[in-house]
Amino acid sequence: MREQDCIFCKIVAGELPARIVDEDELTIAFMDIAPATRGHALVIPRNHAADLLDVGPEDLAGTAIAAARLAARAKERLGADGVNLLNACGSAAWQTVFHFHIHVIPRYEDDPLRLPWVPAVGDPAEIQAAAQELGRE
Ligand code: AMP
Ligand code: ZN
Repeated sequence: MREQDCIFCKIVAGELPARIVDEDELTIAFMDIAPATRGHALVIPRNHAADLLDVGPEDLAGTAIAAARLAARAKERLGADGVNLLNACGSAAWQTVFHFHIHVIPRYEDDPLRLPWVPAVGDPAEIQAAAQELGRE
């Protein structure tokens, strides 16, 4: 299932160029055109789904498995010291392409990436209140 104007569906269909580095029955992986670090790639399901909340369980599992495979390869072949997997769900969370994808970002001890927030211990009452809203009924 594809969506007509989706750039990642066009990559799956071979209608837009991409540097493909891995593929299987459910997924393809290709290099990000604006890499955060050396080897930054994206893993997507072949089927169109807008985001994390739209993707079906089989495609979600397949994409996660493919991302882990690529993460292992980034360590073996590129000499990455670690890997970040990132998914943006919704524009408030920085999603810009609305075909579900997982970023596989190799990390190197001396790379310049930094967390986008400054970790600080939170207010326990507020954490508890959020947990009550978030948790199972
Ligand atoms: P996000 O902001 O999480 O939706 O990520 C979208 C990613 O897709 C960004 O990192 C872009 O650099 C990347 N991107 C956009 N268009 C292309 C393309 N044609 N080929 C490869 N990567 C792309
Ligand atoms: Zn798509």
